[in-house]
Parts: sequence; C-alpha cells; structure tokens
Amino acid sequence: MPETVELDRSALARRGRRLEYFTIAWNSLEGVVGIGAGVMAGSISLIAFGIDSFIEITSGSVLLWRMSSDSDKERREKREAIALKIVGVCFLALCLYVAYEAITTLSKHEAPERSIAGIVLAIASLVVMPLLARAKRRVGNQMGSVAMAADAKQSEFCYYLSAILLAGLALNAAFGLWWADPVAALAMVPLIAHEGIEALQGETCRD
Ligand SMILES: [Zn+2]
Repeated sequence: MPETVELDRSALARRGRRLEYFTIAWNSLEGVVGIGAGVMAGSISLIAFGIDSFIEITSGSVLLWRMSSDSDKERREKREAIALKIVGVCFLALCLYVAYEAITTLSKHEAPERSIAGIVLAIASLVVMPLLARAKRRVGNQMGSVAMAADAKQSEFCYYLSAILLAGLALNAAFGLWWADPVAALAMVPLIAHEGIEALQGETCRD
C-alpha cells in the first residue's frame, strides 16, 4: 500500500514539474511581450502585467525546486515553507510598484498609446490561464501542497489581471479614455496585496 502512495506522489510531482515548465515558458513570452509593448505604448497596466509574468516565473521556478524534492518528506516541508514565503514577497513587491506607477501616471495625466499587441496578449492569457490554474490546483490538492495551491492562485490571478488589462487597453483604444489604463492598474493592487499577505501568512500544513 505505501508503495502505491509513493508512486502516486512521484507521478503527481512529475506532473507538477511539467506544469511549472510550461508556466516558465509561457510567462517568459508574456513578460517580454507585456513589458515591450507596455514601454512602447506607455501603458502602466501593460508593464505591470509584464512584471507580474516575471513574478509568475519566480513562483514557477520555486515550485519546480519544491517539486524536485518531493520524495524526501523533511526537505519537502522545508522547501514548501520557503516557496510560499518567496511567492508572498513577490506579490507585495509587485503591489508597491503598480500602486506607485499608477498614481504617478494619473497625477501626470500621461495618456498611453493604443496597443494592439497588448490586447492580443491579454486575450491569449485570458484563454490559457484558467486552464493552467485548474491543472495546478488539482495537483496541489492531490498532493496537499499549499505552495502549489498558492502558485495555482498566481495563474488564476493572472487571469483576472488579463481581464482588467483588456478592459483598460480596450477603453483607451476605442474611446481614448487615457485614465482607464492607470485606473485598471490600480484596480489590480488590492487583488495583488491580498494574495501576497495570504501567502506570507500561509500555513504550510492543512488542518
Ligand atoms: Zn501573467
């Protein structure tokens, strides 16, 4: 019996690692396109979205490291706790950056340009992220890994950010509402803060 359990765990950890490789690859693209298009268009919400991709890469890499030592229970638990803390700190750093940039942009009345690349990126993430989040959540639940579940939330959260991003970019492109972009970025802040605080307070063992 215990052998079956171990086998299941190692299969799940392998699946977890595959999902994290995909996360890292996708977000490298998302980050480069987001920041590139964001800088070109002067869009704070797009730049914030791009930076969030690098947070997702950090989170994904940490989880990859966590999933590669799953067979050793002691190491597993140690890595689980460290992974969760790193993910939490990443969220809070992003939160501060976005709040600062959005407020600066609003106070300077900086209008972003239209960004078709940004709109295409937001739509692509809107499609991919819910699927990725669901797959990760399933692995996290089956393994009882809170860090994996927190990482799944990062992907889920990227989905919300894509929706907000798309709204800001579309309102600006269609109606020239310059403030829609920084306001969209500000709308992301409480969501990001909440996730960061939750990860930092996170209990690594479930009751
Ligand atoms: Zn993302």
